[in-house]
Amino acid sequence: MFNKILVANRGEIAVRIIRACREMGIQTVAVYSEADRNALHVDLADEAVCIGPAKAKHSYLNEENIISATVLTKAEAIHPGFGFLAENSKFAEMCRECHIAFIGPDPEVIETMGDKARARQIMLEAGIPVVPGVNGGLKNYAHAAQIAEELGYPVMIKAAAGGGGRGIRIVKSRDELQIAYDTARSEAGAAFGDDTVYMEKYLEEPRHIEFQILADHYGHIIHLGERDCSIQRRNQKVIEEAPSVILSPELRTEIGNAAVLAAKAVGYKNAGTVEFLVDKKGAFYFMEMNTRIQVEHPVTEMVTGLDIVQEQIKIAAGQRLNLTQEDIKLKGHAIECRINAENPALGFKPSPGKVSVLLWPGGNGVRLDSALYHGYEIPPLYDSMLAKLIAWGANRDEALAKMQRALSELVIEGIDTNIDFLFQILNNDNYIDGHFDTSFVLKELNLK
Ligand code: ADP
Ligand code: ADP
Ligand code: MG
Repeated sequence: MFNKILVANRGEIAVRIIRACREMGIQTVAVYSEADRNALHVDLADEAVCIGPAKAKHSYLNEENIISATVLTKAEAIHPGFGFLAENSKFAEMCRECHIAFIGPDPEVIETMGDKARARQIMLEAGIPVVPGVNGGLKNYAHAAQIAEELGYPVMIKAAAGGGGRGIRIVKSRDELQIAYDTARSEAGAAFGDDTVYMEKYLEEPRHIEFQILADHYGHIIHLGERDCSIQRRNQKVIEEAPSVILSPELRTEIGNAAVLAAKAVGYKNAGTVEFLVDKKGAFYFMEMNTRIQVEHPVTEMVTGLDIVQEQIKIAAGQRLNLTQEDIKLKGHAIECRINAENPALGFKPSPGKVSVLLWPGGNGVRLDSALYHGYEIPPLYDSMLAKLIAWGANRDEALAKMQRALSELVIEGIDTNIDFLFQILNNDNYIDGHFDTSFVLKELNLK
């Protein structure tokens, strides 16, 4: 096992990883930007190294400085968390060259799955159903127009290097195509440094169902069941749950097997997520694979009793996965709310600032993952997610009641948050009954 791990991230996920290490008796090194001197992850780690100025480009995305900090502190492994360098194959390659264990899959796999247009092709060849669309990037506008005619409108234009719901455009008809094509490309170029876009048939009112995968270095791969992430705003997840109310045990096995097959097809190692869209008839389509830990991993932990971050570390250290598929039993129901510093009344504008009052909920079945503390000054430069509130119950109704209760105890003052927006969802009858799909926030709540 490793003696020391460097955590190449910030915020709640850095805190989450440091906690996992501490429980395993592993020393931790935090890295931080000049804007994060007072951040909680810096305080909780055994050591901390400043890696540059506030702008992520110069600190959390500064590969050389992070590798130097690792060598300097004699850490044997790097956990990248999510976002930042987590899906950067060049960085994973640098780690390999420097004999540092990268806690994630091989650089070749990150690169392959990171090109979402290419990933589709590979899954198709492996016999996994994919959303109808073009396999590979769009060459030009004429190509886009031709594919759109073949697929039939509405279609979706998506960034090949995309993530976090950015660089995605719905195109309802031919006259919207030119603008959608141009804006998706420029948004993709600005966000990911790569303006390649691809096209898929736009599926109407699907559920977003993703499967958590664990794969060791010896070809043993299992899945930990699904998460339903259909509650989204602008293609970004807001509330997630496990299990999904729409999956029968048979369909769970069927999609779960497809997810394992997808991981096998690319020689996957470590934890990963295979995302699918599922239509009203139960037909499922591969959408993408995320080659990292995900924001919503706690709901899977609550229903399986496993610690996915600790499993990631054990796998990266070369340990065999001592779990079979039959060992994975789902117990009860878990729901996660993402608490963000943003103002729903102002179009969800980010709201950084000083946390003047903070009161966390607790109690039976409640988990809270966050890097906030009383008096903390939230810097304006990073992600607006402040906390993840997770509730577990013996069934969905109990989990919902616990979430309602816990969210009503939560007090965050000094900044704007999306807590009222979360209540709007939790109080909606269709949500309570489990009747929702990815259009819920837009169509049911009329929120753009
Ligand atoms: P999850 O599937 O884990 O919910 P999200 O898409 O919400 O993932 O992204 C998790 C975090 O990673 C967010 O902070 C998001 O902005 C960031 N992220 C995801 N993909 C990328 C990417 N390709 N480039 C930069 N940041 C990304
Ligand atoms: P990202 O890499 O940004 O996470 P995804 O490919 O996972 O992008 O898509 C994000 C979300 O956009 C999905 O969860 C879904 O709600 C919506 N979406 C993506 N592709 C389609 C599609 N072909 N039809 C309908 N909705 C889609
Ligand atoms: Mg996705």
